[in-house]
Amino acid sequence: MATEINGWTAPAREVLRVTTSTRIAEVDAGATPGFDGDKQLGSALLEERGARLSALQELLYANGRIGDHRSVLLVLQGMDTAGKGGIVRHVIGHVDPQGVDHAAFGSPTEEELRHHYLWRIEKALPRGGQLGVFDRSHYEDVLVVRVHELVPADVWGARYQEIVDFEDRLVDTGTTVVKVLLAVSKEEQKRRLAQRLRRPDKYWKYDRRDLDERALWPDYEQAYQAVLDRTSTERAPWFVVPCDRKWYARLAVTELLIDALEGLELSWPPAHFDVEAERLRLERS
Ligand code: ATP
Repeated sequence: MATEINGWTAPAREVLRVTTSTRIAEVDAGATPGFDGDKQLGSALLEERGARLSALQELLYANGRIGDHRSVLLVLQGMDTAGKGGIVRHVIGHVDPQGVDHAAFGSPTEEELRHHYLWRIEKALPRGGQLGVFDRSHYEDVLVVRVHELVPADVWGARYQEIVDFEDRLVDTGTTVVKVLLAVSKEEQKRRLAQRLRRPDKYWKYDRRDLDERALWPDYEQAYQAVLDRTSTERAPWFVVPCDRKWYARLAVTELLIDALEGLELSWPPAHFDVEAERLRLERS
């Protein structure tokens, strides 16, 4: 990672990648794995790396314009208050909105419920040259659906392999899938919910149902563990990003996206016209 100011001691993709020994209940959500700088350095670095992300996204977009079908998809999951919205604003906010296909997945509509759960997901997949962002995703169908038993266990139980196969097809057809689980601690969630109840400018974010979900914390931990165990694959791995320190989570996700985009080894599309001839035409105009 060539940066002028750099607090990283190991690449984010290595330290955050889920392994067979990852236990979500044991993740230190306040830690800053692989980064030994403080908030000030992290924030300064975010600006610099955000510019790099933006340049890479423009490359992707430019290639998409000449028919490159490849894309990058960021899948964001996390408990309420984990900061998915902040990632969208402060990380994705660095890039040209024209090049972003953003989709947020809430409770399915009646129409969506009449279809297979991947129907609405397929419709929202990024087009060639786009950076896709899923704020919640098909994983809700093995998270909230499992915790609340919205379908029988054999139905949600079959979905893990179905999701692995689905993502395999995505990778086959040129989508780099970056799956991020934002890990917030239970104490930090309480602080963030308390802030929503203290500040009038945060009331709009407060949802009474968040406390009901909070009471199911161990069930969600178990459901998230199953997701990591059963859907983190070589081709579409999960990354667990501690997010009690928002600045770290934003920096880490930026690095993961830069890494994914650099992996495409893109270069600027060649001119599809005679450059010299066009220069002459312009001069004479
Ligand atoms: P946030 O993601 O920050 O909570 P929000 O409150 O604006 O954003 P909503 O439109 O309320 O978002 O949707 C989020 C809710 O939808 C979550 O409680 C989530 O668990 C639920 N949800 C998402 N997908 C499904 C699904 N497939 N089945 C049932 N509920 C789902």
